[in-house]
Amino acid sequence: MAKRDYYEILGVGKSATKEELKKAYRKIAIKYHPDKNPDNPEAEEKFKEAAEAYEVLYDDQKRAQYDRFGHEGIRGGGGGYGGGMSMDDIFSQFGDIFGGHNPFESFFGGGGGGARRGGGRKGSNLRIKIKLTLDEIAHGAEKKIKVNRLVVAEGVTYQDCKTCGGTGQMRKVVNTMLGQMVSASTCHTCNGSGKIIDKRPPGVDNSGLLQKEEVLDIKIPGGVGEGMQLSMSGKGNYGPNGGPPGDLLILIEEKPDELLKRDGNNVVFDLYLNFVDAVLGTSVEVPTIDGKVKIKIEAGTQSGRILRLRGKGIQDINGYGVGDQLIHVNIWTPKQVSKEEQEILEKLKDSPNFSPSPGKNDRSFFERMKEFF
Ligand SMILES: [Zn+2]
Repeated sequence: MAKRDYYEILGVGKSATKEELKKAYRKIAIKYHPDKNPDNPEAEEKFKEAAEAYEVLYDDQKRAQYDRFGHEGIRGGGGGYGGGMSMDDIFSQFGDIFGGHNPFESFFGGGGGGARRGGGRKGSNLRIKIKLTLDEIAHGAEKKIKVNRLVVAEGVTYQDCKTCGGTGQMRKVVNTMLGQMVSASTCHTCNGSGKIIDKRPPGVDNSGLLQKEEVLDIKIPGGVGEGMQLSMSGKGNYGPNGGPPGDLLILIEEKPDELLKRDGNNVVFDLYLNFVDAVLGTSVEVPTIDGKVKIKIEAGTQSGRILRLRGKGIQDINGYGVGDQLIHVNIWTPKQVSKEEQEILEKLKDSPNFSPSPGKNDRSFFERMKEFF
């Protein structure tokens, strides 16, 4: 499905300011919030779509990339935007958007993931994609990857928030139908931390965070597959005001192998055999994920036969054993022959040995396949 334009989703113009983005997203988030639209997948879709659009457009760097390259610009590259956002990610944005006025905390009895008192919110998750060869998938891999993450900057000094007097909370008396009530809400000057930044070095944002390139060592277990997502806890962006870091989410992609195809935990190899070798028998070398292996071809091997190398497949990611390598035998039919060869073949053609007479070991393709499923 083609993605909709992020500006269109939020209903704002290309030159919308951050405040305008916030306002537009707030409206949509309230309208389509899952608590208000239970069991409504369409509302959930709209909710997620808006969250994604906001996440990208609110971030100057991502927005610039999106403006230049569209959705493609956001998807690729380290720290890029990998896929849909989870509800957790979305709710973790809400502290930013609603500040102390997260409507879902008061309307729906919490659960909105607003700013926590006395400490910053958890940082956002980072997403990267990683492409692996069949060899890396089979044996596991250790990789060094560069990520741009928000880390806690050094040399930042804080002072008590003047709005809330350092308590992180605002109390106010509200007139309601039931009389006067005192309501406490998170201070939106300091987002509940009670502190605001006094002095910050260049490059450091309002929450005391700094974008920094880091090289991370990641260990990928054997048996992962296309579309799987690994999570490294605490390797995402640090949260504002001392909040704990989010996670690094690693999306796995498979680089197709030239010779070996993956089929679940099995590895499939198409072997092309000289017709004479198939008749007389021979031994051939075939590639496997552990290097070349010599296998015996029995005399009279039929085309379509499937040979199995036990345990030469991929280890199961959940530890349920190891797959096999399946060798699919194809007899190579010459595309052209010399006059001499043609004469020999014509002579052979009439021999009774060359007439098909399938026996017990020469079952049909479908019968043979049953063995494997
Ligand atoms: Zn405050």
